[in-house]
Parts: sequence; C-alpha cells; structure tokens
Amino acid sequence: MRSFNPLDRDIQYVKGVGPRRAKLLERLGLRTARDLLYHTPRRYEDASTLTRIGALQPGMDATIVGRVTSKGVLPTRSGLRIFNAVVKDDAGSYIECAWPGQPFLDRVIQKGDLLLLTGTVRFFHGKQFHPREFTTIAGAGEESGLGRGQVFPVYPATEGVSHRQIRQLVATNLDELLAAVAEEDILPQALLAETGVPRLAEALSLLHRPPSLEAAEHGRRRLALEELFFLQLVHALAHREATLALPGIAFEPRGTLVRQLYRSLPFKLTRAQRRVLAEIGADMASPRRMNRLLQGDVGSGKTVVALFAAMRAIENGYQAALMAPTEILAEQHARSLAALLRGTDVEVQLLTGRMGAARRREALDWISSGRAGLVVGTHALIQEGVEFYRLGLAVVDEQHRFGVRQRLALSERGESRAAGARVHPDVLVMSATPIPRSLALTLYGDLDISVIDERPPGRGRVRTVIRRPQQLPAVYDFVASELSSGRQAYMVYPLVEESESLLLKAATEELDRLREEVFPSFKLGLLHGQLPSEEKERVMRAFAAGELDLLVATTVVEVGIDVPNATVMVVQHAERFGLSQLHQLRGRIGRGAETSYCILVSDHGHGSERLRVLTRTEDGFRIAEEDLRIRGQGDLFGARQSGLPAFRWARLDSDLDLLSVARHSARAIVDSDPELTEHPALKETLERSYADRVEMFRTG
Ligand code: ADP
Ligand code: MG
Repeated sequence: MRSFNPLDRDIQYVKGVGPRRAKLLERLGLRTARDLLYHTPRRYEDASTLTRIGALQPGMDATIVGRVTSKGVLPTRSGLRIFNAVVKDDAGSYIECAWPGQPFLDRVIQKGDLLLLTGTVRFFHGKQFHPREFTTIAGAGEESGLGRGQVFPVYPATEGVSHRQIRQLVATNLDELLAAVAEEDILPQALLAETGVPRLAEALSLLHRPPSLEAAEHGRRRLALEELFFLQLVHALAHREATLALPGIAFEPRGTLVRQLYRSLPFKLTRAQRRVLAEIGADMASPRRMNRLLQGDVGSGKTVVALFAAMRAIENGYQAALMAPTEILAEQHARSLAALLRGTDVEVQLLTGRMGAARRREALDWISSGRAGLVVGTHALIQEGVEFYRLGLAVVDEQHRFGVRQRLALSERGESRAAGARVHPDVLVMSATPIPRSLALTLYGDLDISVIDERPPGRGRVRTVIRRPQQLPAVYDFVASELSSGRQAYMVYPLVEESESLLLKAATEELDRLREEVFPSFKLGLLHGQLPSEEKERVMRAFAAGELDLLVATTVVEVGIDVPNATVMVVQHAERFGLSQLHQLRGRIGRGAETSYCILVSDHGHGSERLRVLTRTEDGFRIAEEDLRIRGQGDLFGARQSGLPAFRWARLDSDLDLLSVARHSARAIVDSDPELTEHPALKETLERSYADRVEMFRTG
C-alpha cells in the first residue's frame, strides 16, 4: 500500500477552501489539491505589457493598471445602465472606464480597488476605456507589487470564484503543495539535463510566481516536456508493437522485377527518391516489420517509390496492396501503375466498393488465389470477405484521410492463410500533405518518417497570384487566352459540408453561366463528389484526353488528377481553404514543362494576408510551418480529426526541440525496457493518464 498522498486530498480540505467554495472550484475542474497546483496562470502581466494611462489614444487596445477613485451607475436615455469607474495610475493620470449594461459591477468593484484592465480606448466626451476583462489585483490600501518589476499571474477564474481568490489560495498553499509534488517528479533525469528544463517543483513555482516572463516560460517548458514525453512513450510502445511484436518478413534484396522497373522507367529517380528507397529497402530487408511514413509534396514521386517497394515484395513471392481514400484516386493509381508495369507479368487488380457483384467476386478470387500481385483499392480492401493470398506490403496513400484504425486494419489483412503460415506485412503510409515536423512527430510518432524534399526535374514553375472577385473578368480573359493556345484549366469551388448541396447548386449554375456567357467557344466539364463513379470517370478521362478545355470542379480534383497540359487553376473563395489544401490543389498544375498559373480569388483582406504565403513559396513544408504559425495548433487543417491531442502546455510552433528529445528518449527507454518494469513510475502514469492514447494503437 502506498501511503496517502496529500495532493490527492479533496480540494475542500485545502486551507482556505471548505465545502462551499469547493463546489465553485469544481466549475474550473479543480477537485483535488493537485488540481489546484496544476491550475497555472492563463497569462502574465508585467510592467512591459502595461500601457501608462497618460499614453492611451483612441483606437488603442491596451492593458492598464489603476486605482478606482470614483464609480457609479449611470442610466441612459435608451434605458441601458452603464457602470462607470474612474481609475488613476501611479503617474497620476486618470481615465474613465465604462461597462455598458453591467450595472451589477457596482457591487463587485469598490472604491480604492487596484484594477488590471484589458480593452480598447474609445472617444466619447473625451477618452474612455472599454474593458473586455478586468482583474482586481488588490483592495483598498493593499499593495500589489506590480510596477516594481513583479510579474502578475492572471488565473482562469469563474463566476463565484474570482481571480483574486484563486491567487490567494495558491499563495497560501503553494509551498506545501510544491513540497509534495517534488515526489512526483518522474521524468528521467537525463531528459531534464538534455533539455535544460527545471525540475517539476521548480517549474510549478516559476509558473505561479515567476520573477520574470522568461522564468514563467522556462517553467512552462518543463510541463510541456512532460506532455510530449508521455505521448512519445505511447508512440514508442506502439512502434515496438507494430514492428516487433509479430514476426515480419525479411525480403531478399533486389531481383528481376526491381531491375525491370528501373530499366523501363521513362525517367531517372531523384536523389531524394533514391534516399527514401534506401530507407524503405533497409526496413524491408530486416525481419522487423516496416512501419514507415513517406511524406512528400504532390508530384514529388511517392507513388513510384511505393511501386519499387511493391516490386520488391512481389519478386519475393508476396502480394502488395495500395489503399487510397477515394475511388477516383484508386482508379487512377491502378491505371498508372498498370501502365508502368507493362512489360512485366505483374497483374494489377482493382477493388472498390462500387464494383458489381460479378466483378467483385472475380477480383476477390484473384486476390485470394494470389494471381493478383498488386492490389489497388479503397476502404473496400479492409472490409469483410477480402482475403489475401500472401500480403507482404501494405501501402496506405494519403494517410491523413484514414484513421490509425484503418491503417492498422490493412496491415492485419495480411495475416492470411498463405501456405499455412501467418505473414505480417510491412506497412508504408504516404502523405502528400506536408506538415510541420513537430506535428508529424505528434500525430505519427509511432511511425518512422521518410521525406521526399525534392521535385523531379523538368517541371514548369507555378506562378501564384491573388485576385479580387471584381477582377474576375480579367482573370477569365487570361484563362480564355490560355485555352485558345491549346492549354487546359481547372476552376475550383470550395464545398463545405454543411451547405454542400447549396454550393453544389451554385457550382452547377456557375457552370451554365460560364458555358453560355464566359467561355462559349470552349468545352467545359463538371466534376464533383456526388456524381456517380462512372460519370466522374468519364469526365476525368475526357479532360485527360484533352476533349474538355476547362474542368469546373470541387475539391475532388485535389487528389484525383494528373494532366500535364493543364496549366491554369482558378480557385474561387480561396480563403475558405487551408493553405496546405490550396498547396495540394495547385500541385495539379505545373506537371508539364511550361509555366503554370494558380489564381486565388478572394475578397477577404484578412484571409488574403494568409494566402500571400502561397505566392512566396512552393515548398509545402514551409507553407505548413507558416500555417501553423499563423493559425496556431488548434486550427490546423484536419489536425483535430486526425487525433491531435489537446496539449495544455506544449506548443507545436516552438517546442520542436523538446519533442525531438522526448521522442529519442522514449524510444531508448522502450528499446531497453519494453515492459517498463524498470520504470514503474512511468508505467503507472501511462496507465493512469494516457489510457485512451494507448488504446488507440492497440491492435487485434
Ligand atoms: P506523388 O505520388 O508524390 O504525388 P507521383 O509518384 O504520382 O507523385 O509522381 C508524379 C508524376 O511525376 C508522375 O507522372 C510520375 O511518373 C512522375 N515522376 C515521378 N518521379 C519522377 C522522376 N524522378 N523524374 C521525372 N518524373 C517523375
Ligand atoms: Mg500520390
């Protein structure tokens, strides 16, 4: 039995709380003494973040400090009651603060209170301050310490529990709580040494009463490291499970098929392609199972790399499967791979959900008999009834569209009955959505990562410009001139889920208008997600064959199409797309040798600031970093759906160094002690606080 831990005690027994206040604190999620200790400030104010009242100008957004010298509620002619308070700072300057519609504040704010106020300066019979939020730092006659170089912590508060009461509670109990938490400092010493972050108790102390903003940041990084480390520990265990728990296949080095493919390729592999092929080759040669992510911009040549890996599996007597997120993409993969494999005797078999019963039966038969060497399909591949003869390599394309479960499901498909023995295929997942390295390590920490950071040569440049809707006539003239010289173009409309049918209607009507009024002498086609598969197929083929000049499309064009003659893309309402998504879209042009043009149409001033990043660079990874910087980690494209954990302290835009060290350390620990028997404290925390995450990766 462990002795009772004072941090586990109910918060009502913390000095100064009691049963009544405990109820209120529960609204903030504070139930135990530990919760109070980890209830760290939301932000800090110090003299450097404050504006002197004398320096306030109308229109400014500022934080000020001042004592209330007079106050009262003023009725207005409209019936609205305004609470007014005049505050005065150390320098003796005054300003009137106004809270329209909040007369109750008269009971909350007292004459003599020292207030910290954040808001905007208006002009109304002189300067007036309109606070968004305020904090009472001290009552009449009390000292604040603020202004003498002290940093002032601002705590998350709630109705009934003021910021000041929380600050008081923390001040009363902090030393005792810190002494108790020192025992819970379970991060490996080496990790602290390598990152230079403080010990747990010191970190919490720095967060609650920092001598400076830098000190508070220092404390934050300690807690961030802990969050990142445990996540990486989960990943390291999942990685071990995926690569070592079951016997993998040690593929023999390259043989006839790989050599044939080299000879028949109409181009030379780029240096980046060769590098990642070597990384994949080493995984495949090893008896460990491969569990690798291949990242690379659209058009960087990932599919070809996957094809080489597939040939390696097939020439070793296994099958390979490629799972794509959409029918269009699966069909295109099947076509282009079959073309590259002409001249070999490898059979490519397509399997999608829309195949008729007879074709499906035939496909399943080819797959289970082993006649199909390379199987390409959609989710249909992981559904009941699909049995492989001997799956040796599972490739998942556009990984971010699938969940962890589906990825695991495909690799489990390989546990088939070939010659009586169960085989466990290598797993390669591909993503054309470049994401910042910090995000990749967070989302895909259980995978090894390879990156293609180079484009095949001989591609034309893509020039990207931003235009306003008023400039559309000029844009259309330009498109028409390109079409006249034999080129093709895309016109992309966003489809937002909620109003899909509405926008679809808009796109269809727009198509009619474009057909009749704007581009009467050209052939236009429409491609969208709700078309039947055969219709999509027909439109795509027609566009690829040059029978259509302009393709009006929704986002399905994103991953679907490879037409080198298409040199123009117009994106309508561009601000509705994420930067990475737009970058992926424009990857559909610039596939030939000529210069291509991507025209982003947007009337949002603010939105177009973000869009400007795209006009400056074609490097998908840099764009993703910018996206992260501008929008913050909470708002990343697809991040939430793909299972980005909600961090309290970690920040993916600034903690990459911590993340790398955490990953390294977690893998080293799991390598030497996979059951964590020598790390009981880590194991216990993992089981107590990270059970959901662990569960996410559990197979079987
Ligand atoms: P990704 O899957 O990364 O989007 P693909 O593998 O589909 O890219 O390649 C895009 C196009 O570039 C294809 O037409 C492919 O045949 C071609 N390609 C791939 N690698 C090279 C290379 N090294 N040199 C020239 N063209 C290449
Ligand atoms: Mg691809």
